[in-house]
Amino acid sequence: MRIGLGFDVHRFVEGRPLFLGGVEIPFNKGLLGHSDGDVLIHAVADAILGAIAEGDIGTHFPDTDMNIKGIQSGKILAAAAELIKKKGYNIQNLDAVVITEEPKIHRYRKTIISSLAEILGIDQGSISVKGKTTEGLGFTGRKEGIAAEAVVLLTKS
Ligand code: MG
Repeated sequence: MRIGLGFDVHRFVEGRPLFLGGVEIPFNKGLLGHSDGDVLIHAVADAILGAIAEGDIGTHFPDTDMNIKGIQSGKILAAAAELIKKKGYNIQNLDAVVITEEPKIHRYRKTIISSLAEILGIDQGSISVKGKTTEGLGFTGRKEGIAAEAVVLLTKS
């Protein structure tokens, strides 16, 4: 068994679509980033790469690489999933928290879980996504951006 932890933060900006877990969420701001800024996917991909001690998404998809500018983060996650498969691991379960004052996550939870399940090729029942506020405290409380945390458990097939 291997366990991995991922964390990421992206800043809100106007004029970009908001993507969380590969789902476009209706909101008046998006997340700034070299990719589509999908903070949840980045945390999940980092958890997966961390579990197999393969660095982080910055190692595999450096933000200095202009070929991947604006890349759909789903592709990054799919590549991480491919890597663990090659190493003979399966995802047992994934638990993630999206920390943001708004938009409220619970409304999109099922869609996000279904999107992650499809990208990772695992059952929806193996995925948990929770929304959390910080009660108005800190940068998430000031609605300056979104943070995400993820934990993944892998087993050798
Ligand atoms: Mg990121």
